[in-house]
Amino acid sequence: MKIVIKGGRVIDPETSFDRITDITVSDGKISRIGDTSETADCAINAEGKVVCPGFIDIHMHEDRITSQDTHKIFKTRALECMLNMGVTTAVGGNCGESPEDFGQYAGMLERAGMPVNFCCFMGHKTLRELVDLNDPYIPASDRHIEEMKSLLKKALQDGVVGISFGLEYTPGASTEEIIALGNVLHGFENRLMAAHYRYDADRGIEALQELIDISGENHLPMQISHLGSCCAFGNMKEGLALIDNAKRRGIDVEADCYPYAAFSTTIGSPVFDPGCFERWKSSYGAVLVAEGKYRGYYCDEYIFEDLRKHYPETIVVAFVMNQNEVMEAIQHPGIMVASDGYIHDGQGHPRVAGTFPKVLGRFVREEKTLDLIEALSKMTILPAKRLNFSKKGRIQEGCDADIVIFDPEQIIDRATFEKPLESPSGIEWVIVNGEVALQKSHPVNNQNGKIIRFGGA
Ligand SMILES: [Zn+2]
Repeated sequence: MKIVIKGGRVIDPETSFDRITDITVSDGKISRIGDTSETADCAINAEGKVVCPGFIDIHMHEDRITSQDTHKIFKTRALECMLNMGVTTAVGGNCGESPEDFGQYAGMLERAGMPVNFCCFMGHKTLRELVDLNDPYIPASDRHIEEMKSLLKKALQDGVVGISFGLEYTPGASTEEIIALGNVLHGFENRLMAAHYRYDADRGIEALQELIDISGENHLPMQISHLGSCCAFGNMKEGLALIDNAKRRGIDVEADCYPYAAFSTTIGSPVFDPGCFERWKSSYGAVLVAEGKYRGYYCDEYIFEDLRKHYPETIVVAFVMNQNEVMEAIQHPGIMVASDGYIHDGQGHPRVAGTFPKVLGRFVREEKTLDLIEALSKMTILPAKRLNFSKKGRIQEGCDADIVIFDPEQIIDRATFEKPLESPSGIEWVIVNGEVALQKSHPVNNQNGKIIRFGGA
């Protein structure tokens, strides 16, 4: 398939290339950048539009499947939302939770076909459950750690990006357990640790320090997940300074953030253990129920306790962070934009469908609190470098043709807490691996994605 994209504002954040010109795509690659009169199978008029690398979402949560689903048609709703908001590569398996067997999961996705490229972390909480350590409040024994290490090794051989931790969800995990598992990555090239910190709010700084110490101790890169829900409680400045200081000392630590002041998880998780509302200086009424019998209600003590006790898997959204501090994180140099998107039974948090258009529409265009190229670099080249992608996140000749064409005057998120999966406006065309996947804002092909296996052939 040969595609010519005519007359758009072509932006490559890595080189600061920013010019009105044409792009030719052939055989899955960007074959030429520059004015052309060539004919093609598909000619796209991009006048007045921005043409940039497809977004790379370094932190999302993949569609869950259970062993009963393996023979059903596999629905990739989270990955469909990704495509609709311009993401061409998504990274799942975050916050300590991942498919149990990446090789099997990847095989199923490949058989079903996937809308965007996908790679995945192995989750630490999932490893714990695989070795029958189901109580998140207790530490792993030496035997558990040895068993987890060999499962992790197998996952790394199958091509996972690295290991993710969700320490707030596994409060019993010791720092030694984390360091021991991280060390397994040394046998493999280009792998990464990612972590959802152990504490938030008034203990957020202490929690960031633990992750920095682990990275320093292991000499491995650490990606700190969704910094907003750790530090947008009055300590963002301190958190950002701590990370910058660590980087100056040569510790390989980076962070990402989603552009919302509300977080989302299951109500039964340890995040909502007693003491949480005191920590957040908030109360039951800040928690919106996203699914189930109380869907659409804000909690009171009765609903909160009822769900915690009887329906702990219910997804809720907690409006407890400060928006201005979330913005401070997104604006900060080096902080990546990532969605943390998660869908359960068709419900969730609007970040799964709105993150990238929200940053480009609300922050860049409306509020002018972020420069366009700076915003794009947080969505493309920064995550690409973090993941050691040399052919993605760039508009350069020879790179993979993962491309987004959007209208900078129209782009906006439309997903809301009531309708979390609503597609954005202004994302007009998305090209995945050199094929048109979204045409005039409508998905036309959801089979163009590929599994990315690290270190694979
Ligand atoms: Zn998380």
